[in-house]
Amino acid sequence: MTLEPTTGPRTILDISHRSRPGHGPQPEPDGGRRSLIGLTRPELAQVLSELGVPERQLRMRVGQIFRWLYNRGVTSFEAMTDVSKTLRDLMSERFTLDRLDIIEEQISADGTRKWLLRLPAAGPLGQRHEVEAVYIPEEDRGTLCVSSQVGCTLSCTFCHTGTQTLVRNLTAGEIVGQLLVARDRLGEWPEQLAANPTPPVGGRYITNIVLMGMGEPLYNFDNVKAAMEIVSDNEGLSLSRRRITLSTAGVVPMIARAGEEIGVMLAISLHGTTDEIRNKLVPLNKKYPIAELMDACRNYPGLSNARRITFEYVMLKGINDSDADAKRLVKLLEGIPAKINLIPFNPWPGSPYECSDWERIETFAEIVNRAGYASPIRTPRGRDIMAACGQLKSASERLRAKTRKALDNQAAEAAAS
Ligand code: SAH
Repeated sequence: MTLEPTTGPRTILDISHRSRPGHGPQPEPDGGRRSLIGLTRPELAQVLSELGVPERQLRMRVGQIFRWLYNRGVTSFEAMTDVSKTLRDLMSERFTLDRLDIIEEQISADGTRKWLLRLPAAGPLGQRHEVEAVYIPEEDRGTLCVSSQVGCTLSCTFCHTGTQTLVRNLTAGEIVGQLLVARDRLGEWPEQLAANPTPPVGGRYITNIVLMGMGEPLYNFDNVKAAMEIVSDNEGLSLSRRRITLSTAGVVPMIARAGEEIGVMLAISLHGTTDEIRNKLVPLNKKYPIAELMDACRNYPGLSNARRITFEYVMLKGINDSDADAKRLVKLLEGIPAKINLIPFNPWPGSPYECSDWERIETFAEIVNRAGYASPIRTPRGRDIMAACGQLKSASERLRAKTRKALDNQAAEAAAS
């Protein structure tokens, strides 16, 4: 089975048969051993101390292991050649270096890549959930869009993820793991890069991270924080926090903490300019209305013209796209260093909205622009592989449902004959 609904994209890796019904139960991941991926420095130091590493060596050992895991991308303890064999053996008895399994990789005609990933840790019923990560190459950057939860509790009415009922927080390791897997597939580890005759942007493929995949990152604060510590650690994946953007639907009480404790750039999914409209689009607004959200934005630590908040605004025909909406938007943003990202709505089967007409979007952008705000219209990327906003995992689920049906039919036919 491949996930190719159209002709453009290439599926270069297809191991999805492993998840087919009737293929037998999945093996339990490594008999209860935890993955070392995703432990912060203090957590790793604690683990090493329990394994008998003397206090005075802890700092150095943690640094070594961080470099192996996140700088070199090793997938086995044996590869950690400057760590003693005794310690390597001790670590491998209790821990794994499990990442997420790639179930599917799709490459769009525009270079966007989407991975369907199976999480290493099983859920309470033994099921192993899946999430998606998307890589979007642009001329001056390469952005990885990562998920923070399986599913989402927010039920934004225009977002497909909100219709999925299953929800669990990703662990820090599962968040960092998305980046490791992306680096594997893109060939971004030092040896692979050295062998690459055409260096990508600034010698890297992934220069930016956006927490804009599935889930609400501020509902999974601790794990997102730990993951971003590792991602931005100089001996870890060393991505500057200014190149990490956390997108929230507006969990107001956590916004200041995101600034103070995680220190990332902020994006707000605004989408509506009155509480009446926003209540419908982003039901979380009933709990944290626009005025409170704007206050939290105004007080976001470290804001300046060089460090602006991005406001995401999905363009929905006849709902939030009038001139009056654009003017109210400008008014709301007064005093906040901001840029506005206008997102053409991505329809999904059964979605109750339509995307605004192109002319309408341009007129809207112009009003916002004339008021002095950058208001780029986000070009849809990876549409041919359903990699666009709010569509993650939906295509694969639908296709899988189809496959299941086909298999059921086959089984029924076999039984009847
Ligand atoms: N929960 C977080 C991050 C996930 S959504 C948040 O709400 O910000 C990432 C972005 O995609 C959000 O701005 C969301 O509103 C937008 N989005 C979701 N579904 C969409 C769709 N069908 N079309 C366009 N944008 C969508």
